[in-house]
Amino acid sequence: MDTPFMKKLNAAQLNAATCKSNSVQILAGPGSGKTRVLTSRVAWLVLSEHVRPQNIVVVTFTNKAAKEMRHRLESPELLGSMQSDKLCMGTFHSICARLLRQYHAHVQLKPNFTIADTDMSRHAIKKLKEELIGELSDYGRTKMKPEAYFNVISKARNAGMNVDQYIEKNYGEWDKKDICIMFKAYEDRMHADNLVDFDNLLLYTRVLLARFPSAANFVSHVLVDEFQDTNVVQYDIVKGLTRGGKALTIVGDPDQSIFGWRNADRGNFIKMQREFKGTQICNLEENYRSTKHILKSAFHVVSKDKKRIDKSLFTENAEGVPMSMLKMSDDTMEAQSVAEEIKRIVEYSGSLITYKDIAILVRMNYLSRAFESALNSLSIPYVVIGGVKFFERAEVKDILAYLRFCYNANDTEAFERIINRPRRGVGEVTMNKIEKLSRQPGATIISVLRDISTGKGKMIASIPLKTKQNLAGFVNLYDNVQELMQKKSYIYRILEYIIGDTNYKEFLQKEHPDKDGESRWDNVGELVTFAKQFNPPPDNLAKNSAAVTMSGIEILENEPPENESNVEDSLPDLPNYTEPTEEEPPLGDDERLNDGDHIVRFLELTTLSTNSKEEDEADLGKVTISTMHSAKGLEWPVVFTIACEAGIIPHQKAEDDMEECRLLYVAMTRPKCKFI
Ligand code: ATP
Ligand code: MG
Repeated sequence: MDTPFMKKLNAAQLNAATCKSNSVQILAGPGSGKTRVLTSRVAWLVLSEHVRPQNIVVVTFTNKAAKEMRHRLESPELLGSMQSDKLCMGTFHSICARLLRQYHAHVQLKPNFTIADTDMSRHAIKKLKEELIGELSDYGRTKMKPEAYFNVISKARNAGMNVDQYIEKNYGEWDKKDICIMFKAYEDRMHADNLVDFDNLLLYTRVLLARFPSAANFVSHVLVDEFQDTNVVQYDIVKGLTRGGKALTIVGDPDQSIFGWRNADRGNFIKMQREFKGTQICNLEENYRSTKHILKSAFHVVSKDKKRIDKSLFTENAEGVPMSMLKMSDDTMEAQSVAEEIKRIVEYSGSLITYKDIAILVRMNYLSRAFESALNSLSIPYVVIGGVKFFERAEVKDILAYLRFCYNANDTEAFERIINRPRRGVGEVTMNKIEKLSRQPGATIISVLRDISTGKGKMIASIPLKTKQNLAGFVNLYDNVQELMQKKSYIYRILEYIIGDTNYKEFLQKEHPDKDGESRWDNVGELVTFAKQFNPPPDNLAKNSAAVTMSGIEILENEPPENESNVEDSLPDLPNYTEPTEEEPPLGDDERLNDGDHIVRFLELTTLSTNSKEEDEADLGKVTISTMHSAKGLEWPVVFTIACEAGIIPHQKAEDDMEECRLLYVAMTRPKCKFI
């Protein structure tokens, strides 16, 4: 069937998009149309091969990529929105979250588990460190910060290890004992609080798919973009989803592998070729993105990697202008010059180049500050991708934490966040007592608070009357939100209720009596608007809801397989696993993976998402400032890569200089016409 989108592919691309093989690898350089081919292959599968879209899983690396792909597929030229809405598309994390929601009992989760972001994980570890201080060594007490514990734990899990395996391997080592203690305590606490952190979203799904393969019954085809950045856990998930000879297509470029530091492994290409017999390899050689000059300069950088496998990449695009190098004596001057240059380019190009066509790529987030003030000083609008995201702002997190807590009353992280915002006079000692009591069998935070506020329980005497009244108000709010949730009220109504009942505006004004308070209040308003678009009342049925139903988080990769891992026999077990009593029936092949109710989807979207609002702003005539890592897969006519100096790139702490070369290569292959 010759559909219009196929005419937009060259012969090699068409061949890759319509390849009949069950297992396909599309290996090609930057800008060669890998993502375009992947999108076209999805359309081909549905339109020509009559595969049901609900049986197709598409994994992208960022939620921005998922959104863009969905947007493209929605066009009538490809699938149209009716069909594309049915696809199971998102990042590894968002797809795993959906699977776990459906099959929670198989990994011993309660159905209303909530997802802990990195901040919450770190906070939980900080608290545990204080609780366990007597058990830690001198070194573990004084030198190891909570963040250091978290990083080691996360690294181990990204390497595919669960807590029991880590302990078995390391407990005898004196320098790892503290980590073992904290790791175990952390896992137990997360479990008790019915919380799943980012790493466990992947690890639990890996276990789920191994133990209960029929959870993947709904899948017939899996397609993965940016495969070079998958780690061992993600690889195993892909294997679990495709077990039993289901079709797998991956696209990637080993030269753009930039997450080795988080255990991504480009060896996964070879592993897949070995494990998926008859894998067909397709190469694309024509770059459509950049000028000849840009490609030549970029190639010069990546060719330093002596271990790379050479592949051909040419372009019929114009020669273009050579790349420019600006030499500056310090970062303020650098920022000022870049801002002036941006202004000059836009003014001199007529209307050819506007601010949205320009990006500034930085090696580390903090480097963007100087550029933000320089752009401000020239009144150039900009948006920072990968900075503090909308859903990470304190006031937005507060309101969301109320929703989280009302959804999962075991979520102590959410509870601690909100109990004194606004102030309710609950001190640390009382808080610890409440939490301790809530961990007793049959108790929850709410049952303890209810006891306190109604005069029952042992610890009441020590709590002032005013605090008791405040806690009664808190319980009342919880009950009312529960009722609203049960009635399936619109999320924005629930949020409005929370904001009103807590007098949150007044609280913000008191805490931030300056202009800052106003802009924080605006963010709260923005959250309500977002909720309205997400879950629109019938008279406001906006298409937006479809655009935000799947989401992902930016970066969060995992680990390398030194030894080949076999999903079936090397899987870590969950603690005290028992078979779920109520068997969740597996989905039939034409059934869709359940999205969960609207509260679940909203909470997942806001926890797993980078801010779609900010990303959309990039299209509204603003210069983009992004890290090099987050720029993966994207393109702009003009790109500035700043602070190209030893210590920054290659970064002084980088373990692998070749990975730094690849990172610069990714940055250098983002521009279409001009690289500075
Ligand atoms: P990266 O490695 O950076 O992710 P990629 O290989 O995924 O790049 P795409 O983003 O799919 O490449 O394509 C790069 C650009 O080239 C896009 O603007 C895309 O629309 C364009 N393009 C791809 N194929 C063609 C084609 N056959 N004709 C015209 N333009 C094309
Ligand atoms: Mg791509």
